[in-house]
Amino acid sequence: MTEASCHCGAVRLACAAAPIEVTDCNCSICRRYGVLWAYYSPTEVNLIPADAATDVYMWDDRAIEFHRCRNCGCVTHWSPADKSVDRMGVNARLMPRDALARARVRILDGADTERYLDES
Ligand SMILES: [Zn+2]
Repeated sequence: MTEASCHCGAVRLACAAAPIEVTDCNCSICRRYGVLWAYYSPTEVNLIPADAATDVYMWDDRAIEFHRCRNCGCVTHWSPADKSVDRMGVNARLMPRDALARARVRILDGADTERYLDES
């Protein structure tokens, strides 16, 4: 188990395991946020509190909700608008430093090819 927390602590995410790898994506939104995503099934993540005060940003085809703390502004996670989708992203930069330090950072070309640049 590892926990991600925004700066003020109002929004926390308890994740089933520390990430083995995290994704640094260069798409138009991720590069601006400067986030590192750890992907989970929504069943592996508990939002604390369950009604945590986040604001949501959506764009493009509105498939993904980007959540940020309403108080301190940290981008905390994204969740699928379609709740049947079994995938979400937690901003690993909000995790303890040692958990992040152990994770492999993978570079995703989300802006163009949707491929990891460390794959040939
Ligand atoms: Zn906060």
